[in-house]
Amino acid sequence: MHPHHSCPGFSTPISVLGAGIAGTWQALLFAQAGCQVAVFERGDASMTQATSHWAGGMLAPFCESETAEPVIARLGLRSLDLWREVLPQTPFNGSLVVAHPRDRADFERFARLTGAHKRLGRDEIAALEPALDGRFSEALFFAQEGHVDPRQVLPALHGVLRSAGVPITFNARPGGGASDGLVIDCRGIAARDACPDLRGVKGEIIILETDEVALSRPVRLIHPRWPLYIVPRAGHRFLIGATSIECEDERVSVRSALELLTAAYAVHPAFGEARIVELGAGLRPAYPDNRPRVAVDDKQIIVNGLYRHGFLLAPALAEATVAHVLDGRTDDEVVRCM
Ligand SMILES: Cc1cc2nc3c(=O)[nH]c(=O)nc-3n(C[C@H](O)[C@H](O)[C@H](O)COP(=O)(O)OP(=O)(O)OC[C@H]3O[C@@H](n4cnc5c(N)ncnc54)[C@H](O)[C@@H]3O)c2cc1C
Repeated sequence: MHPHHSCPGFSTPISVLGAGIAGTWQALLFAQAGCQVAVFERGDASMTQATSHWAGGMLAPFCESETAEPVIARLGLRSLDLWREVLPQTPFNGSLVVAHPRDRADFERFARLTGAHKRLGRDEIAALEPALDGRFSEALFFAQEGHVDPRQVLPALHGVLRSAGVPITFNARPGGGASDGLVIDCRGIAARDACPDLRGVKGEIIILETDEVALSRPVRLIHPRWPLYIVPRAGHRFLIGATSIECEDERVSVRSALELLTAAYAVHPAFGEARIVELGAGLRPAYPDNRPRVAVDDKQIIVNGLYRHGFLLAPALAEATVAHVLDGRTDDEVVRCM
């Protein structure tokens, strides 16, 4: 992007490709900054084609710092504020991390690598989550973390966009709409034609329904291979996630289903009686370094590589893009001028 774009009177129309979590936040913050924005989405309004449809929706900068680089926590913390501003009803009631005694060493490792937690004993666990009374002797509580239901929050944000005068065209033809002006490409894993080093990391989930268990916040169970979690949803539903597999098919394997269901059962045996509502998988779009990137050239901006953290990062990435385009300020950790 040349400096002539970096002026307060930016009048170039902006076309955002993709109405997943990345594109939605880009459109929102550019519209809030006074730009003329339109969104084009290949799929229909159900958004089932988007990786975002499959996400846990956890806004967990502290828990994620177990495996992610510091830039993720930095952007994530900023995003928490932006979520609060745009959707004040977003629940920020923390997340809980538990482990079985045999995974004690991994639990301590997790505690060491993450910050901002409080150690809870049995009584405190029961006070926060009565359903877990007597099930775990120790937990880590990350009080500042939040979570959203992607399948509710995407339509909600699309509603905010429409109220801000941003048209969203669903079932858009590839290449449709975006002829003049600035294009912000937020096509997720479908953007491989423009980003050859993008890969998909499969994440499988299962949705269960039971009124025998009630949880108020995400519960993570320490697991030697991937972070397993249970995220409560409306209607007595629970999302059990997620595997992390370097492969690009979108099927759920028997092994993964067994592991996810075993984890749920290990957190609470009443999940044994729950109804299986859905099994599914999404591909997390990732660059080789697993870091997000805002790639800027003369014609377009590509926002991609949100990997495991799309909901956590999208607001702050949008803010960084707006700052670059409108104010000429460049966040060197994420913005790359090509
Ligand atoms: C199982 C699982 C659990 C996860 N849990 C979490 C979590 O708890 N917290 C978190 O922060 N992140 C989580 N993630 C990661 C998060 O889901 C992704 O980082 C995020 O969804 C990526 O968003 P995106 O907008 O880049 O891509 P997408 O959501 O895939 O959106 C891209 C959109 O572009 C559209 N598109 C494609 N081609 C075109 C075209 N030519 N024209 C117009 N539109 C087009 C697609 O239809 C799609 O809707 C999870 C991911 C998975 C798979």
